[in-house]
Order: sequence, then C-alpha cells, then structure tokens
Amino acid sequence: MIQRIKDFKLKFDKSIKEVKNKEDLDKVRSNFVTSKDSFLITAFSEIKKSTPEVKKEIGELINKTKKYFIDEINKLSEKFQKVEYNELLKKEKWDVSIEGLQFKPGTSHPLNLVIDEIRQIFTELGYEMINGTEFETDDFCFQKLNLPIGHPARDMQDTFYVDESTVLRTHCTNMTARALSQLAKAKETIPANVGMISYGNVYRRDDDDATHSHQFMQVDGLLMGENISFANLKWTLEYVCKRLFGQETVIRMRPSFFPFTEPSAEVDINCVSCNGIGCRICKYSGWIEILGSGMIAKEVFELNGIDSNKYQAIAYGWGIERIAMLKFGVTNIRDFYENNDKFLKQFKFFGK
Ligand SMILES: [Zn+2]
Repeated sequence: MIQRIKDFKLKFDKSIKEVKNKEDLDKVRSNFVTSKDSFLITAFSEIKKSTPEVKKEIGELINKTKKYFIDEINKLSEKFQKVEYNELLKKEKWDVSIEGLQFKPGTSHPLNLVIDEIRQIFTELGYEMINGTEFETDDFCFQKLNLPIGHPARDMQDTFYVDESTVLRTHCTNMTARALSQLAKAKETIPANVGMISYGNVYRRDDDDATHSHQFMQVDGLLMGENISFANLKWTLEYVCKRLFGQETVIRMRPSFFPFTEPSAEVDINCVSCNGIGCRICKYSGWIEILGSGMIAKEVFELNGIDSNKYQAIAYGWGIERIAMLKFGVTNIRDFYENNDKFLKQFKFFGK
C-alpha cells in the first residue's frame, strides 16, 4: 500500500508539472483530490479491515499526501490568480486626474413644502394627519358621502373606474367617510373631539392645461365633536389661511352646495397678487377662490352610522397645487410634475 501511495504521489508530481492553465489545474484537483475515484479516497476503504496499527500508519500517510497535493494545487492557483490580476491591471487604465461626479443636495418639492406647512399648522391644532388609499370603493368615495349612483354631482367628478365598484379616488373626502365609519364602531368611546387631516393624490378625467390636471393633490379636514358649530369652521379657516398666506389675509365665505355638507360654503381670500385691487390672477374681482367647506350633512352621519343628533362636524377641502401656485406665484400646474431641475431649484430657500 505504501508503495502504491508513493507511486500515486509521483503520478501527481508529473501531472502538476504539466499544468499550463486554470483548466488543467481543475482537472488535477478533481483527479487527485476531490473525485470519488481518487486513489487517496479508495485507499481509505481498502485499509478498513486492517489492524489498528496499520490503519494508523497508512491513514497518516494518506492524509499527509493529501495535504501535500492541496498545498501544491493552492500554490499554483495563487500564481495563476496573480497573472490574471496583472493582465487585468494592464488592460484597465485609470486616469486619476479625471474630475469626479458632483452630487448636489436636492431641494424639497414645492408641493411637499405646502404639505409640510399644513401638517405643521394642523398638528399644532391637535389634528392627526393621514394619507389613505388612492384606490377606493364606490361606496366610500361616493355612496357614504351622500352621492348615490345616478347623483348629478358625480358627473362633476368624472371618474376613472378600475372595475364596477372600484375607482381612483376623486377626492380625499373618502377618508372622511372611512373615519366616520370607523368612529361609529367605537360607539360610546368616541373621543370628545376628533380632528383629522387627510391628504394625497386624487384623479379626475380632466383635460390637462395650465390650471387643470387629471391627477392632483388635495387636503381634506374634519373636526367632529358634540359642540361643533359653523363658528368653529370660520375660525379654523381664517386661522389656517392667515398662517398659509400671511396675517393680513382676509377670508370671505359664500353659500355653496356640496352633497356631503349642509350648510356649505366656498371660501375666498383677498388676492395675494394685487391685495384686493384687481388683477389678471383674480380676474379683476380682488378675491381668489381657495377652498370648499361646510358642516357634515346629517345624511352623511347616518350613512356612516353616527348619531347626527349627538354629533356635529366641520369639513373642508382644498387643492395643494392651488395653494402652491398662489404662494409661489406658479402659473402652470404642469411645472409641478415635470421634474425640471431649474424650476425645482428655485424652492431651495423655502422650508426647513
Ligand atoms: Zn388680484
């Protein structure tokens, strides 16, 4: 056996001397070390029945030989790796004098600046701000907001239907219906006052132009409690408009109609551009329409399972783009969506 091992070693030495590349080396590794048919592996089974002394002597010799094979193979493998690496270095020439890429810090998007400001104002007032789902059921987007199938106001909000009962929400007011339905489950444990702001993308089938987009952002507010009145609505809207557009801002409320509020009011502010004198932006009226609002209608309370004799709520909704356009003097709504670096960079002085 000892002689056979010595012969096998000689065979190995001869083979490894003939190795010229990595492929040859892989073959040697397989034939002499890893293959099941390698003599070093079969030799072990051959000495199984021998005496312990023989087993020990031959076993040690086999292991020593195996270690020698592996060491020789590794030495050669390292040599090939070095050659390969040096060839790669020769091929890849690096010009260390080339100027590196410059990464400039980004700026907040103007719509995010408005959202952040609204979040700040309403969080201070104790409201919770939520985002909510853009895919919505017909039920929460319309029916639970007193807009049953066939209601004429549905036409005003020409809708993208995903299937018969699912829509891309046409307003953030869907979250008002969801909040009321959720509160109804709480029954006796409804908090004394619940303030919620929802915001996000809404979709309407609209022809895009300088002031219209089929996708835009809205903010909707809801304050519900047992002693909420129209006075709370007026105070809140006046406070928020002054915070958004400056302390000298004046608001004007005009009677209006929305299916989910009664009474309803549209809210104007004095023109931010001409301060009420009259200009192109306010169409020479001195006023700019800014949002819709009202007291949640009894029907909406009932549709969502809330006792309309016990609770009242104020609600209001407005477009984030509209606020951003007025605040920053942007005249084309599409500027917000086109990711034009020159446009966006102008807002680096706003916000935090
Ligand atoms: Zn004006």
